[in-house]
Amino acid sequence: MMNKIEHIGIAVKNLKDSNELFYKLFGEPHYKIEAVESEGVNTSFFQVGENKIELLEGTKEDSSITKFIEKKGEGIHHIAFDVDDIESEIKRLKNEGFKVLNETPKKGADNKLIAFLHPKSSNGVLIELCQEIRE
Ligand code: ZN
Repeated sequence: MMNKIEHIGIAVKNLKDSNELFYKLFGEPHYKIEAVESEGVNTSFFQVGENKIELLEGTKEDSSITKFIEKKGEGIHHIAFDVDDIESEIKRLKNEGFKVLNETPKKGADNKLIAFLHPKSSNGVLIELCQEIRE
């Protein structure tokens, strides 16, 4: 079961410029910046009321964000849903016929275990599952 939208991910060319732009938009600055080296991305997070927005900038040519921007330009990249048990959600969605890109969840930004569904199996929307990492 999915609990709620955890955040919306937006692909940007230049994180520094976009942090300023979204600061103007929201009236509050980002509350954190985090590099996810395994993915070749720098991320920043904004809190907007109950909601979170993640900006993503590719740091290398073969990063999925760099490739996304080359193909489609900047814009909404994924929608992330909060789940309690990512392993059982992956199983459930596979059984429902969705193509899961990460059968084993990986460590993402913001203290989460994450897995993506292929957009081809979900009407062109890249979906991220995320589960808070509990100590
Ligand atoms: Zn995300």
